[in-house]
Amino acid sequence: MATRFDKNLLSRFWGNVNKDGYTPLHCPELGPCWIWTGAVSGSGYGVLWTGKKLETVHRLSWEIHGNDLPKHKKNGRVEIYILHHCDNPVCVRESHLFSGTSRDNSLDSMRKLRHTCGERNSHAILTEQQVIQLREAFKNTRVAREAENKAIQEWRFLVRSFKISNQTALGVAYGRLWKHIPL
Ligand SMILES: [Zn+2]
Repeated sequence: MATRFDKNLLSRFWGNVNKDGYTPLHCPELGPCWIWTGAVSGSGYGVLWTGKKLETVHRLSWEIHGNDLPKHKKNGRVEIYILHHCDNPVCVRESHLFSGTSRDNSLDSMRKLRHTCGERNSHAILTEQQVIQLREAFKNTRVAREAENKAIQEWRFLVRSFKISNQTALGVAYGRLWKHIPL
């Protein structure tokens, strides 16, 4: 384990992880996601202040579990990313993460039909009422710990019954999709 992870940082990290997340519908063999319950960036990734900067927690998790963070750069650009098998940006479960290139990322996205489940499609398959219901359920998964399990069950139930992908559901929940309905 990298030495920069002192006890304090580790406890702040694990104190914000709920290992009882929902299981990705497109890939149930992965088992439940470990959901980051702390701060989330505008792009939907969990973030933690590590003393010098705000870092994304899925990358931190990758490093905390003893993996090297890829630092290959080409023309000053990072070419290797830490990606999610589960397609859930707030997941920090190491077995749901893998390192790959941006090409892997787009191939992976294509495989999961992220592009065909885009804004246009998701508009067609949800009603405004369902959007509001989905967002409410998602908000509930991120509040009181005691209510978390019930809220997560409800969130999973809605995603399944609306027959949408996790990615679409999260897009709705974070307001990337259905922008005209305020969060
Ligand atoms: Zn996951």
